[in-house]
Amino acid sequence: MGQNEILFERAQKTIPGGVNSPVRAFRQVGGTPRFVTKAKGPYFWDVEGKRYIDLIMSWGPMIAGHAHPEVVEAVKKAAETSFSYGAPTEGEIELAERICQLVPSIEQVRMVSSGTEATMSALRLARGYTGRDLIIKFEGCYHGHADSLLVKAGSGLLTFADSTQNAPSSGGVPHDLVKHTLVLPYNDVAALEEVFQKQGDQIAAVILEPIAGNMNLIKPSKGFLTAMRSLTSHHGGVLIYDEVMTGFRVALGGAQSLQGITPDLTCLGKVMGGGMPMAAFGGKREIMSKLAPLGNVYQAGTLSGNPVAVAAGLKTLEIVSREGFYECLTGQTEKLMAGLKQAADAASVPFSVDSVGGMFGFYFADKVPASFEEVTKTNIESFKKFFHLMLDQGVYLAPSAYEAGFTSIAHDNAVLDEIIAAAQIAFKKL
Ligand SMILES: *Cc1c(COP(=O)(O)O)cnc(C)c1O
Repeated sequence: MGQNEILFERAQKTIPGGVNSPVRAFRQVGGTPRFVTKAKGPYFWDVEGKRYIDLIMSWGPMIAGHAHPEVVEAVKKAAETSFSYGAPTEGEIELAERICQLVPSIEQVRMVSSGTEATMSALRLARGYTGRDLIIKFEGCYHGHADSLLVKAGSGLLTFADSTQNAPSSGGVPHDLVKHTLVLPYNDVAALEEVFQKQGDQIAAVILEPIAGNMNLIKPSKGFLTAMRSLTSHHGGVLIYDEVMTGFRVALGGAQSLQGITPDLTCLGKVMGGGMPMAAFGGKREIMSKLAPLGNVYQAGTLSGNPVAVAAGLKTLEIVSREGFYECLTGQTEKLMAGLKQAADAASVPFSVDSVGGMFGFYFADKVPASFEEVTKTNIESFKKFFHLMLDQGVYLAPSAYEAGFTSIAHDNAVLDEIIAAAQIAFKKL
């Protein structure tokens, strides 16, 4: 038995499923998760000493590459003056100022410790601000694991707009709670219009991934976004952009800068903490001023604005702000996708690709899907085989066909060539 298997067995004795976040357990693809010992740039090494090219990058945060020397230095310096005070620091102001400058729709920002906290708090704030209960989310979008967001629509198109048909997508979530969440299909303008027409005056917020990365990678149509912005404005609802994944990942100003949409609230996480537990939500001053201690919407956190996490976040944002960062990242990601597509074509495997900035999706299907339902129709069996063929060759992809992939600035041409060469072999074997 290899070291990974030994550790996985041991882990399962004291940790449910052996992991601290379910997707790490490799349930969808089968096999043994790799236990990581160290990482540098685009690579990580497992306990067996095998090197992998990392195409997850901690699910997005490590955009500057693993263990970037400047980030490591900043974290060390911060750690030497204690890890946490539970009192304000100047670093938090600097990070807040930086975020407001890079994402102009954010006039004020509150820091938290995870994306889940950011979306949960943004929803509470939207409800407190509007005095309404109903929220709209879209099928296939993931916004962390707050109760109100662990919802799936009843089956059948007609039930999409009927929240009484909703079912919690997790045990432990009360039916009474999910009836306040409407689940609509992504990119379906008609469904959105219909819901607003019927219950627009009850809708507190619409929350979406402005480029969805939790059902592989799905882009919104222009019409979908403009309809959402105008409907929420017209009916007095809050538009929440969940940019926990896309913020500082697809562009310096996030998805909203590419789409020309100004949301009311934005959730951030992942890249903004540079790999430390750190996230935030922010937006219009008028809405943010409803938060405690100014307003009556309660929100707090012992480790919020943690100084070590702030140091990692500030340095990471400094690095991504440098001239040419996103041009390079975007170009490398496109090159990688083109290489994979070419390799698939050469082996006559139906395959399509998409990417934005340092985020990518590939699909075992002739064309890029536009909704969760279309993703479920891609060839998941081929994905699983491809995943393991790549893993064996030292390329670590997301262990699920429903997740986007991520590159970093450290994924240079030599790294891309190695991935593409492995893919050529994998596609031939499929
Ligand atoms: C990762 C993610 C979250 C949850 O963030 P956590 O830090 O894992 O709690 C929320 N929304 C989106 C879009 C995400 O990708």
